[in-house]
Amino acid sequence: MNYVIGLRCRECGRHYPAEALHVCDFCFGPLEVAYDYERIAATISPESIAAGPRTIWRYRDLLPVDDDAPVDLGAGFTPLLRADRLAAELGLGELWIKNDTANPTGSFKDRVVSVALTKARQLGFKVAACASTGNLANSVAAHAARAGMASIVLIPEDLERAKVTMTAVYGGTVIAVRGSYDDVNRLCAELTSEHPSWAFVNVNVRTYYAEGSKTLAFEVAEQLGWRAPDHVVVPIASGSQLTKVAKGFSELVKVGLLEHQAVRVSGAQAEGCSPVATAFANGADAISPVKPSTIAKSLSIGNPADGWYALDAIRRSGGSCAAVTDAEVLDGIGLLARTEGIFAETAGGVTIATLAKLAASGDVRRDECVVALVTGHGLKTVEALSDTVGPTVTINPSLGDFDAALGEDLLIEEAR
Ligand SMILES: *Cc1c(COP(=O)(O)O)cnc(C)c1O
Ligand SMILES: [Zn+2]
Repeated sequence: MNYVIGLRCRECGRHYPAEALHVCDFCFGPLEVAYDYERIAATISPESIAAGPRTIWRYRDLLPVDDDAPVDLGAGFTPLLRADRLAAELGLGELWIKNDTANPTGSFKDRVVSVALTKARQLGFKVAACASTGNLANSVAAHAARAGMASIVLIPEDLERAKVTMTAVYGGTVIAVRGSYDDVNRLCAELTSEHPSWAFVNVNVRTYYAEGSKTLAFEVAEQLGWRAPDHVVVPIASGSQLTKVAKGFSELVKVGLLEHQAVRVSGAQAEGCSPVATAFANGADAISPVKPSTIAKSLSIGNPADGWYALDAIRRSGGSCAAVTDAEVLDGIGLLARTEGIFAETAGGVTIATLAKLAASGDVRRDECVVALVTGHGLKTVEALSDTVGPTVTINPSLGDFDAALGEDLLIEEAR
């Protein structure tokens, strides 16, 4: 079954058919997928969902695709881990980590790409394309390979090495562009009109792509036993993920899976690229674009397409938004690894460091059930850490050397 009733302009409310459209002809507002929630509510239940696959596709009634087989590498249904040791460090109570490093290509982008390419294939596209800060490139190249589609991926030339390798290995076309992500994205917008037969994941099929992020909210609620958390902390690049996580929780109420929800949604950015956090701090109504400069490259979008909608969702929910320095990002990566055994990329460091900051300021409270979204794997950004982590000590292969170098310290560790 497909419960999509069409696309609707987020600004003026005009309706459009569910095709490869992303802006309103009338007011240039972005389009959003509209569903028949009454019909979904009549069929969906915790049991019907539990009978589905252990991927995002268990929520397909709330995704904008037809019944054909999805383009699927197994995205979603990632672990939700209770994080008591991290909570104790931060002075928090019930804290959970949504570990999206466990996705097929190591980031949350697999959720959105699986949805985008499924819809693109249904619409008849044979080529998948995107502009990417890295993780989207990995995921588009992998899912296109899986679907037997060609891929054309545009990236800024200064991307982390692992992200380039993890894109190129799938055999698609990878174009490194001398410029920032915002330059790459502008080029992509031009290419979309030149090549209408290509599915640009973050341009002409973005409306569908974005819906994939709702599955983060769906999974968190299901994994908490069909309960909404009080507070989620979400990293912001374009702002799409945060906006759709908020939408996801409200949809669960509309279809009767949650009784009510008042989830506070807070945003996390790096200071070197913090247009949304800056607008929040200033009480501004518009987002002023910035030129990014931070180690958190996956979040380096200086002119975020959904920035205003993210800001609006944060304010409406009573959430907060903050930014952290690159040094704090590295501390955040280390803290999460040391306390919970999860190795996140720089975007995860942004989330954890921002969570720490909001906990210290009282914006995230000890009496709340808090979920932090850790969205990408640490192996993607090892260069960020290469100066700060390494062997504890290097020795010759002898017992004497070992005892001399480490003996006493090791005993102290064991006794603790
Ligand atoms: C893309 C990305 C995000 C956020 O993306 P939005 O553009 O805000 O939807 C967060 N974390 C990681 C690791 C990402 O790659
Ligand atoms: Zn409109």
